[in-house]
Amino acid sequence: MLTPTLSASELRYRRLFEAAQDGILVLDPISGQVIDVNPCLMSLLGFSYEELIGKQLFEIGVFKDEHFGRDAFQELRMSGYIRFDVLPLETKDGRRLQVEFVANIYQEGDQTVIQCNLRDISARKQAEGALQDATQELSRHAAELENLVSLRTAELKLSNTQLETFVYSIAHDLRAPLRTMQGFSEILVQEHAKNLDEQGREFANYINAAAQTMDRLLTDLLAFSQISQQKLELTPVDLEAVVISAVSGCDAQIQQTNAIVECNPPWPQVRGHATTLRQVLLNLISNALKFVSGKTAQVKVYAEPRPGGLVRIWVEDNGIGIPTEFQEKIFHVFQRLHTVEFAGTGIGLAIVQKGMERMGGSVGLISVPGEGSRFWVELRQSKSGP
Ligand code: ADP
Repeated sequence: MLTPTLSASELRYRRLFEAAQDGILVLDPISGQVIDVNPCLMSLLGFSYEELIGKQLFEIGVFKDEHFGRDAFQELRMSGYIRFDVLPLETKDGRRLQVEFVANIYQEGDQTVIQCNLRDISARKQAEGALQDATQELSRHAAELENLVSLRTAELKLSNTQLETFVYSIAHDLRAPLRTMQGFSEILVQEHAKNLDEQGREFANYINAAAQTMDRLLTDLLAFSQISQQKLELTPVDLEAVVISAVSGCDAQIQQTNAIVECNPPWPQVRGHATTLRQVLLNLISNALKFVSGKTAQVKVYAEPRPGGLVRIWVEDNGIGIPTEFQEKIFHVFQRLHTVEFAGTGIGLAIVQKGMERMGGSVGLISVPGEGSRFWVELRQSKSGP
């Protein structure tokens, strides 16, 4: 309490003591009794000046654990300093508080005293607790969401597989009645043409041609389903052998169109599935030979190393090219740009994409209408021998 005999520096200290926003307690280092308290501490703990002065802290029940109070006091006396980042206290009316507690022993004139500073951090701790709860809640939601996504992905994969199986069995089962139609329409055209009038012969030819188109469609659909479903074991693949085999698969087309196909080594070894890669390259080369208009097809096949241990295989043509807006679409099943001028089923590039996906690779193209197309597929380079 203020007395009229205080010196100027004592007065300054006193003002700070009274106005401090931290609770300050001054204790006797021998007895542990409270010598002085500031207003902030009194309002923090709810005790009056009279209730605190001359008391020991554990005596007034601020520290619930009496041993802790005695031990801390002992340690303070030994080391001259003690600090607790978080110290639980109880106020006079039983409220729980959390304070940051620092105590020092120091000389005050000819008297040694202990000064304890207490800062109420209950609100901060509460906010931290709330934040922790919110973070935990958020992680719980994230985990739930992740579970849901994996569940849905698994369900989607299952229904995709079921759909692919369904497409396969439909395509497979439709082949038998189609063969019957094809066979009888051929017999009709070849052996009974003389019994039909001209229109009859024309109609029989239509049936025959449609049956052939449907047969190609079913064959391609079966190839697509097969590539989607078959178990693929990835091994080192001799790229040169696969490229040669794919080109010779297009022999008839090359002969018919007098096309030029250039295959330029070197051929690094790749990690993939030889049969699938052959099918992928065959489809790309076959398209490169097909989609030319009014000129001789010139096709170039070569490979180049790419960053990250990858190999990019290019199939380039001098054909009609593909407008940018369709360059993604054409990889979807039945998507065709040139339906009238060029025959096809619209499944070839879907097979390319699915095949590359199954081998862990990727596919893309660069094309400008009228200036040809450059399709590429990318696989991991293989270090070991086949
Ligand atoms: P298909 O060749 O049976 O029509 P694809 O799936 O192989 O089916 O190709 C889809 C469409 O992409 C083709 O109809 C064609 O319009 C376009 N396309 C594919 N390759 C080329 C190419 N090299 N040049 C120009 N257009 C192409």
